Amino acid sequence: MKIKGLFKLKGVVQHYDWGGFDFIPALLGQAHPSSSPCAELWLGAHDGGPSVVESPDGPVPLPELIAAASDQILGASVAARFENVLPYLFKVLDARKMLSIQAHPTIAQARAGFAAEESAGVSLKASTRNYKDRNHKPEVHVALTDFWMLHGFRPLEEIAESLQSVQELQPLMPDFSERLALAGNDAAARSTLLRELYARVMTIPQAEVDSLLDPLISRLEKDSPTNKDLPDFWAVRAAREFPLPDGHRDRGIFSIYLLNLVRLQPGEATYQSAGTLHAYLEGVNVELMANSDNVLRGGLTPKNVDVAELMRVLRFDEGKVDIIHGIDAGKGETVFATPAAEFELSRIQCSKDKGYDSGTRTGPDILIVMEGEVTATADGDKLQINKGESFFASQDCSYKFTSQSESAVVFKASVPSAR
Ligand SMILES: [Zn+2]
Repeated sequence: MKIKGLFKLKGVVQHYDWGGFDFIPALLGQAHPSSSPCAELWLGAHDGGPSVVESPDGPVPLPELIAAASDQILGASVAARFENVLPYLFKVLDARKMLSIQAHPTIAQARAGFAAEESAGVSLKASTRNYKDRNHKPEVHVALTDFWMLHGFRPLEEIAESLQSVQELQPLMPDFSERLALAGNDAAARSTLLRELYARVMTIPQAEVDSLLDPLISRLEKDSPTNKDLPDFWAVRAAREFPLPDGHRDRGIFSIYLLNLVRLQPGEATYQSAGTLHAYLEGVNVELMANSDNVLRGGLTPKNVDVAELMRVLRFDEGKVDIIHGIDAGKGETVFATPAAEFELSRIQCSKDKGYDSGTRTGPDILIVMEGEVTATADGDKLQINKGESFFASQDCSYKFTSQSESAVVFKASVPSAR
């Protein structure tokens, strides 16, 4: 079996209900609009949708190729650090509808949570199961279109202003402004205040949630807000997309006013570290994360919300969002650096006469051609990669590619060297 070099890679499309009908089918050269929503294209070795490599011996699931020779495919260092598993999962994501409000655990929380649920005998398939694996799930994503999201708690002064200006929200904590004034610049006191506010949002009885949100949503629906840069628009959309049984309201709607509402421009990125509350609202992105499925939800979902576990995992930090613009690494490559040890995301622009050379490298790479088409070469391997197609480079394979079209855009997932 071939275990070194370049391989064409075939990803798996996930048809989640919130996905779009056009972008991913168009990227893959399939009929579009598709009859079922195409939410995510997965490139990686995750059990939930392993990619398949084209090898001279025929198609081989990527996890099988890795299992056959992890030291050669992943490299000894990556294999040792990440338990012989490809440490990242690479995705193209198209959100037509809003995704749930969520946060991801630290690796210590994931290990403890997984062990606790295993010993309590909670089935991995149970709807109440929080921890599907023992890993954390930091994420970085780069917008391909205008992309709206919620990311982290807003500065408390902004929350105070929201609670004052949106009268239906005031009863959540009528003395929030006074208490914020008392807290002043004391970071611990501010964090405690934020924790208390969010705990209240997540634990007040459903009848109280309805009594606050019913008049808010009715008032907003009359205005039918159209500005996606303001929370009112998303509150109305959330009420429409996430109706609870018997006419109840989803308390996740409150969080739309508590979290930073961000519109990323194409090429802008954010990083979701452990404990950061976030939600994707609309748009297309390229996303790279640790190989995990551990999500704790905080509303805007029909799925299970475990408030106690969410409260344990959340970080009650406030502040504006750090937008990552990427660092020019030369050779047409822009690197979206993060603290994650599992992955590094970059965007490569190349042309007919200006190709890309990987140089000597660490870690296995997955690349996807988003625009144009490229010819990739390494020792003896030569692959023609069209738009929407992907390829995998084993750890010690130095490769080059040039554009066949006027220019090409390629996104690359790799593993940063150990630090
Ligand atoms: Zn997430």
